[in-house]
Amino acid sequence: MSKPELKVAIIGSGPSGFYVADALINSGISVEITLLEKLPCPYGLIRYGVAPDHQKLKRIANTLDTIAEHPSVTFLGNVELGKDISLEEIKLNYHVIVFCNGMPDSISLGIDGEQLVGVSPCNDLIGWYNGHPDYQEQEFDFEHDAAVVIGHGNVAIDICRILSKSIDELRSSDIPENALEVLSKKKLKRVHMVGRRGPVQAKFTTKELHELGKLSNCNVSLDPIHLNLKSACQQELDDTSNIVVQKNYKVMQSYASNFSELNDKSKTQISIDFMLNPKCFTGDKQLSSVLFEQTYLEGTPFNQTCKSLEGLIEMPCGLVFTSVGFRGTLLENLPVNEPKRTLTNQNSKLLGSDGKTVEGLYAAGWVKRGPQGVIGTNRECAQNTVDNILKDSPTLLETSVEGKAGLLTMLNKKNRRYVTFEDWKVIDNKEVENGLVLGKPREKFVTVEEMLACL
Ligand code: NAP
Repeated sequence: MSKPELKVAIIGSGPSGFYVADALINSGISVEITLLEKLPCPYGLIRYGVAPDHQKLKRIANTLDTIAEHPSVTFLGNVELGKDISLEEIKLNYHVIVFCNGMPDSISLGIDGEQLVGVSPCNDLIGWYNGHPDYQEQEFDFEHDAAVVIGHGNVAIDICRILSKSIDELRSSDIPENALEVLSKKKLKRVHMVGRRGPVQAKFTTKELHELGKLSNCNVSLDPIHLNLKSACQQELDDTSNIVVQKNYKVMQSYASNFSELNDKSKTQISIDFMLNPKCFTGDKQLSSVLFEQTYLEGTPFNQTCKSLEGLIEMPCGLVFTSVGFRGTLLENLPVNEPKRTLTNQNSKLLGSDGKTVEGLYAAGWVKRGPQGVIGTNRECAQNTVDNILKDSPTLLETSVEGKAGLLTMLNKKNRRYVTFEDWKVIDNKEVENGLVLGKPREKFVTVEEMLACL
């Protein structure tokens, strides 16, 4: 007798969704997996979050293809949960639903002036220059001479790099032509990356921090005063567990030695500024400056928060990108933990509003553990989710469900034009072909209509 097949729907086809599928395939159980995706294209964060000039990292998509092409896996794109299909409808067809829908929204600072023209949350810019269909209406004026990026994480570094690279350097990325045209008007001469705490608390990884210093015709500098550490920061730096920060500190020492070149107008100046907490944005309709409070740190090593000093520092600029983290979206009344909006879960199992686990519902990736870690972190997280699914599978298999066949019947009844993986490959090939003539890795279609039109 054949083993009963666990029918699993995965919501979201970013790295986490693929890694959950992979862990299920490798678990040895008999499984049928449907990978549901809102857009016609797979890969989520890899296609639309990883910086367009980090093509090597984007090549992870090739490895994910082998998962999508496994006989147990079906990719169904252009199917949005809550719009084209409800959670209740999916539940009718599957034993297990795993939410891997990521965290698409930027956290806002909630300070005065955030609505001014020129102030944007980082995902507006990232989505736009990565060709995400939901962000193509965004408008940016790069003809200002100064931009401020708020936050000291890798996303802030990505943005500083894209803002500082020359248009010729950007042409070899997969930034779509419409965005390249706007970026070609770029006149930025100063880019400030501003953090509210010090060099030891910055969340960069060393590779990314180091890469910033390699950009042609740019000077990356920081005020050496910030490297004179107070006792708690020195203890934090010296801690043997803090290897990344120790490496970052060395890179920062080299940037401190560039401080004297800060006024060299022949180069784009990238300045890393510390101990400044954004207080408000000023301007009349259009942003003209950011006012910051200077800060000091209070607390014990690894637990130091910033407190504000009196007086404000003004930083004139025409553009601000806030890069202070991400949060999830509210979906189908599922309970979330504010402010990050992770799905409320216990051992990857979703909790209902009564605090009890809901049978068959799980989460993996950022929506489970918050917006941290590199892409590889999601593999471990996905394995942990699948381990918990496997423990529950004997009980879950007691119910008989139709799986993919049932879902397809529903989608067909609704006349929904879903996109299969073979369809995606047609779109993919066309994008690569269009890119080839432009000397780029690909020229992305930036609307869903364009993607569907080539099928
Ligand atoms: P992040 O690493 O958490 O950094 C967020 C930054 O925002 C921190 O400096 C934080 O300062 C600051 N911040 C938060 N709230 C603030 C506020 N109210 N006012 C001022 N500053 C505030 O987040 P991220 O840069 O968005 O990155 C998310 C994850 O993606 C990270 O794990 C990152 O490594 C990963 N990522 C990796 C790559 C790569 O590997 N190439 C590229 C991009 C992103 P505090 O520390 O003071 O809170």
